[in-house]
Amino acid sequence: MKFLRYEQQGSVSWGWYFEDKIGKIEGNIFENYRRFEANISISDVKLLPSVLPTKIICIGRNYASHAAEHKVDVPEIPLIFLKPPSSLIGNNEKIVLPPQSNQVEHEAELGVVIGKRGRWIDPETADDYIFGYTIANDVTARDLQRLDGQWTRGKGFDTFCPVGPFIDTEFDPSDALITCKVNHQVRQMGSTRDMVFPVEKLIAFISSVMTLEPGDLILTGTPAGVGVLSDNDIVEIEIEGLGILNNHVSLHE
Ligand code: MG
Repeated sequence: MKFLRYEQQGSVSWGWYFEDKIGKIEGNIFENYRRFEANISISDVKLLPSVLPTKIICIGRNYASHAAEHKVDVPEIPLIFLKPPSSLIGNNEKIVLPPQSNQVEHEAELGVVIGKRGRWIDPETADDYIFGYTIANDVTARDLQRLDGQWTRGKGFDTFCPVGPFIDTEFDPSDALITCKVNHQVRQMGSTRDMVFPVEKLIAFISSVMTLEPGDLILTGTPAGVGVLSDNDIVEIEIEGLGILNNHVSLHE
C-alpha cells in the first residue's frame, strides 16, 4: 500500500494513494488505523513530506561510483551522519538555495522508513523493522561540507531533504533503478543493487548505535552523477515503483 501525508483546507492527514486518488486515514499508520474510500483528487491537496521522523540517518559513500567521483575510497564500515527533521519538504515544494553556499548539489537516494522500535537489530530480522520505502534527495552544500569537516551545516539547511511523493510498503529494494533529472536532462542513473552495504546491513549497523523509532528515515546513499543546482532548476528523481519526486530550486523562500 502507498501512504502519504497531505494538507487540505488547513487540516493535515495521513492518506493512502490509489490510482491518482487519495483516501483519508485516521489513527496511527504504524499501529491501528482506519482507511476511508480513495475519493480525493490529488490535485485538490498539498502533499507534505511522506514521513514524520524523530531523526534522519544518512549513509555516505554507499555506491562505489559516487565515492570514485569524489576520489575517496568506499568505507569499510557504513559512514553515517544526520540531517535534522527541519530540513524536510514534500513533493512540489521548493529547495531554497542558502546565501552561505555557492555549490548546492542534488543526491538522489532510496529512503527507508522504519515501522517498529529497535536496537541491536540482526540483519536477518531487519526486514521486520521496515515499514516501507520512499524517494529522497540528500541536498548538500558541497563547499560547506568540505570547509567544515563536520557535515551538519552542509547537509542540514531547511529544505535540504525533499521526500515523497509516498511511502510504498510493497517495494523491492534489491535492484531498482534510481534516476535524477535536472531540467529534464539525466544527471544520475544507478541501481540499488550497487549499494556497498544493503539495507538490512545498514539497519543492523545504525541500530547498534541508536534506537530506531517508527517513522525514522534512512537515506541509503547516492550513485554517481551528483551536480550543482541553480535558481529555477527543476529536479525530478524517479525510482521504479516509487513514483517521481519533483522539486524546483529557488533563491527565495
Ligand atoms: Mg547522500
